[in-house]
Amino acid sequence: MKYALVRVNVPHKNVDKDFHYIVPDRLSDSLSTGMRVYVPFGSGNRRTEGYILGFSDKSEVEDDRLKEILDIHEQYSVLSSERIQLASWMSRKYYSTFNECLHCIAPKAVKTKTFRCLSIDRDNPDIDELIAAVHKRAGKQSMVLELFHGDAQIPQSHIKSILDIDSSPINALVKKGILKVSEHRQYRGNYSRSVRLEDEKPTLTAEQRSVLDIIYKEKRPVLLHGVTGSGKTEVYLRLIEDTLNKGKQAIVLVPEISLTPQTVDRFVSRFGERVALTHSRMSDGERYDQWTRAARGDVDIMIGPRSAVFTPFERLGIIIIDEEHESSYKAEQSPRYDARETALKLAELYGARVVMGSATPSVVSYYKTVTGEYALACMNNRVNMKMPSIKVCDMRSELAKGNYSVFSSDLKSALAENLQNGRQSILFLNRRGYSTFVSCRNCGYVMTCSRCSVNYTYHKGDSGLICHYCGSRIPIPQRCPECGSPHIKYFGTGTEKIEQEVLRLFPSARVLRMDRDTTERKNSHADILDKFRSGKADILIGTQMIAKGLDFPAVTLVGVLAADLSLNMNDYRSGEVTYSLLTQVSGRAGRADEAGRVYIQTYNPQHYSIVYAQNGDYLSYFNEELSFRRIMGYPPFSNIFYVLITSDNNDKALNAANTLAEIFARYNKNYMFERLGPAPAVISKINNKYRYRIIIKCSDEDKIKAYVLYCLDKFNTLKGFGDVSISIALNPNYAV
Ligand code: ADP
Ligand code: ZN
Ligand code: ZN
Repeated sequence: MKYALVRVNVPHKNVDKDFHYIVPDRLSDSLSTGMRVYVPFGSGNRRTEGYILGFSDKSEVEDDRLKEILDIHEQYSVLSSERIQLASWMSRKYYSTFNECLHCIAPKAVKTKTFRCLSIDRDNPDIDELIAAVHKRAGKQSMVLELFHGDAQIPQSHIKSILDIDSSPINALVKKGILKVSEHRQYRGNYSRSVRLEDEKPTLTAEQRSVLDIIYKEKRPVLLHGVTGSGKTEVYLRLIEDTLNKGKQAIVLVPEISLTPQTVDRFVSRFGERVALTHSRMSDGERYDQWTRAARGDVDIMIGPRSAVFTPFERLGIIIIDEEHESSYKAEQSPRYDARETALKLAELYGARVVMGSATPSVVSYYKTVTGEYALACMNNRVNMKMPSIKVCDMRSELAKGNYSVFSSDLKSALAENLQNGRQSILFLNRRGYSTFVSCRNCGYVMTCSRCSVNYTYHKGDSGLICHYCGSRIPIPQRCPECGSPHIKYFGTGTEKIEQEVLRLFPSARVLRMDRDTTERKNSHADILDKFRSGKADILIGTQMIAKGLDFPAVTLVGVLAADLSLNMNDYRSGEVTYSLLTQVSGRAGRADEAGRVYIQTYNPQHYSIVYAQNGDYLSYFNEELSFRRIMGYPPFSNIFYVLITSDNNDKALNAANTLAEIFARYNKNYMFERLGPAPAVISKINNKYRYRIIIKCSDEDKIKAYVLYCLDKFNTLKGFGDVSISIALNPNYAV
């Protein structure tokens, strides 16, 4: 073949096509589809990474205007034909460039690290005489030689540290032709915690056996609906064991937030070195090396967040998606892929199984078990057979009784009791800081960030006001900027204030707080959890960071301080988020021998998601949620496109939004698409950028995509909107 079709690893729209390159003679035998190569690219002929997507005998461009491939990166294909198909599926599905999708599937190569090993050069015919000569003279060189037995290869760093020497005796032996040097690839980011291998597997419960039977029989993807503590992880472990026994490989997706050492250890203690891990705090080098280990088949199980779906296993047998309902499975930047959908596509290409587990499946996924797209498997009981008892505390009646504190009397006495009995408690409030808004008692002025349309949050520890959107911080005002009054008042409660309240009520309690402010330092996250687990604290206060996946056997009490926060979040998903959060956080109580107690504080005790969460009645919750969605035309009954228009200049942003709305109206033939707006976005200004939004709704995903992209193309041909930027998102995680 004369030409190779090369995709450069540059995610720009203008280069989103295959380029022809001449295959030089010296490479003609070694090139194959999917290989990573280097090519000269652009006017400066910059050495650029690319992938070979195919070959051709013909080119429309003259030979003298074509360039040659420079060289090969590694002598194996990093993109199978399945993965190339996946990239083109992704680029259609998530309206992004093919190159962007390839970039997710095969990350850019990072400089690799090697280390030096030494061994006796047996190919040297004079080797025995040479060695004898060194022995004769006992010294550092002979000490080095004594370390070698047979064909042993020893890393240079080991020799140096064992004998406490520098490199010169080693170099001298190399120079004499006695030792030979080999370079070995060093893989960064290997799991370094030492984990004891399990002695024996637990005997499965009847429910675990029955869901495994269902999963093995099913061809369809399976949604595993199992209450918290029902033993879903053990089901995953058995599925993986079965997969490995068949010579296949497994990907386990876990939300970043639950990717704790405790979670990973459960897999490592069962499967040892066959397990690898990736996460977002890894360096590019670490992530690339783990990706390479997977591509080489050195590991069979990869655990990681959303991006781990792209683990290059060519013997893929199963993809497990734990906490299936988590919004973090959807990428928030282009390509805005959904790891669940991507997993299903990948599994289809490789003939692999998909199992999605959750105690609170997302409404959209559970609906697919109703339509038959997914199979359903259920586990309704905890392994320890003890569901927590959940009590809802009506904070309106607490107020009426004259209780103005952040704790209902029930929660307060339960906390006191737990402290007395030496049991652990968790307090959950999904809001960090001390007070969530600060205003003037005299004129009512509210302290608002000057760059964003957002209230400042008071952080006592930092003694300042912080904007949670742009991060700007100002000192505590002594006087109202509006009227000069010195009477400034602090409203609303965050985790920092809860911590102080707990210490005021229970001065001897040992308290830990976990939120973004206390986990900025590396490892602080794990440190707090370790401390709590080892019993060095009585009460853990935290935001959603503590709501999910944690398994602390000694916790018998959970308090949800304000269930209303998520109910008031101004989004059609508020009920779903609340049900899931309450169930997940309640699931932290009573996981071992003793049954747990949960107190949910709210001003809306009648709200369906609170009532059903209290009863642990997912199905009733789901049915009520579904009828609400059907009436309102929300997903799964429609698709919602958010179009966000932003500019430094308010008039320009508004003008562009109006113009775009006119275009949407003009091409809305037969009124197939519902349009809302333009209107200011939920947060109308962030970081001095003004934000407007238009919402387009339609039940047909392909039609709505085609329509929105068409209208945007029309808009992009117009002049005069240079300083306006537009972004789009289909069914995003949060309303914009
Ligand atoms: P889930 O993932 O559904 O919340 P886990 O898999 O964490 O539940 O299981 C809850 C607890 O029960 C864990 O401590 C786990 O070790 C234990 N467990 C799970 N399956 C069994 C079993 N078959 N026999 C005994 N203990 C089990
Ligand atoms: Zn004032
Ligand atoms: Zn701000």
